Amino acid sequence: MPDGDSTGQGRVLRSARALREAGLIAPGAEAGATAVAARYAVSVTDHVAGLIDAADPADPIGLQYLPHPAELVTAPGELDDPTADGPFTPVKGVVHRYPDRALLKPLLACPVYCRFCFRREVVGPDGGVLSAAELEAALAWFEGTPAVREAILTGGDPFMLSPRRLGEILARLGAVPHIETLRVHTRVPVADPGRVDAALVAALRAAGKPVFVAVHANHAREFAAPAVAALGRLAEAGVVLLGQSVLLRGVNDSVSALEGLVRAMIRARVTPYYLHALDPAPGVARFSVPDAEGLALVEALRGRVPGFALPRFVRESAGGGGKKPMRG
Ligand SMILES: *Cc1c(COP(=O)(O)O)cnc(C)c1O
Ligand code: SF4
Repeated sequence: MPDGDSTGQGRVLRSARALREAGLIAPGAEAGATAVAARYAVSVTDHVAGLIDAADPADPIGLQYLPHPAELVTAPGELDDPTADGPFTPVKGVVHRYPDRALLKPLLACPVYCRFCFRREVVGPDGGVLSAAELEAALAWFEGTPAVREAILTGGDPFMLSPRRLGEILARLGAVPHIETLRVHTRVPVADPGRVDAALVAALRAAGKPVFVAVHANHAREFAAPAVAALGRLAEAGVVLLGQSVLLRGVNDSVSALEGLVRAMIRARVTPYYLHALDPAPGVARFSVPDAEGLALVEALRGRVPGFALPRFVRESAGGGGKKPMRG
């Protein structure tokens, strides 16, 4: 593991063979999954393995994490860097697209690797931790850019840092006078909830400023009891919880699945924030839902759930224009 990663919570399945031995993929699927794993990172935590119904090839949890040979086929229009962050990178690890807020990517490891990930060409277990000097340069950029009022930690998944390192970064950013709020984007509370322990909660408090945590989850079943408990620990520490989802064929592409998802979020004190249209990363076409269908689903959701539970349906515009609301 790269320096700074805390130790995992229990067993983590990182290869096609391990997935087959755990009974999550069929023996006949191992060779195909091995070829996928050679190109794109694979990781299934013990917690997530327990959520997958291995008897159901269409299981909405399994679909998100189990490698599939279709990933090796790049469809027309699929891009290595669909969000086009490159031109908006003033220093390594920082993305500054909007004047008032900027992303800091301290590492590129995640607790699990989603098969539809828009950053799949760069995320992985052994790449992308900023060196001490690079992190220092990135923090100095935040200190020297007074227009930035919000620092958004993403990656990768910042909750994969040790609580000590995360606390140091948040304390440093929180001490910058022009930074008013901090945000962390993470899948850890639903993918490896045991990591949300007292030390991690204390690290968030080290910011000394309001902390918003945007939790990535796409299906109601991701809000299992340990995840709800982890989110409760964050909420009780004063963290404001937001929900982020991706509209995915086979996972949440029905009104009932979306209603179930947002209701599971609000029961866990998470306010739905964004529903993202799928970004066209390589090999993700099997998850694609046409825009018109997505708009109809979101329209049908309106009126069925509390107004505050309706996520904003957005697409990342090609060429780096940022998030744009989807309209009919
Ligand atoms: C998504 C994103 C943000 C955060 O945008 P919000 O609409 O405030 O959630 C900030 N910077 C970049 C580059 C982004 O892609
Ligand atoms: S958690 Fe986010 S960054 Fe990590 S693999 Fe999933 S979609 Fe990609």
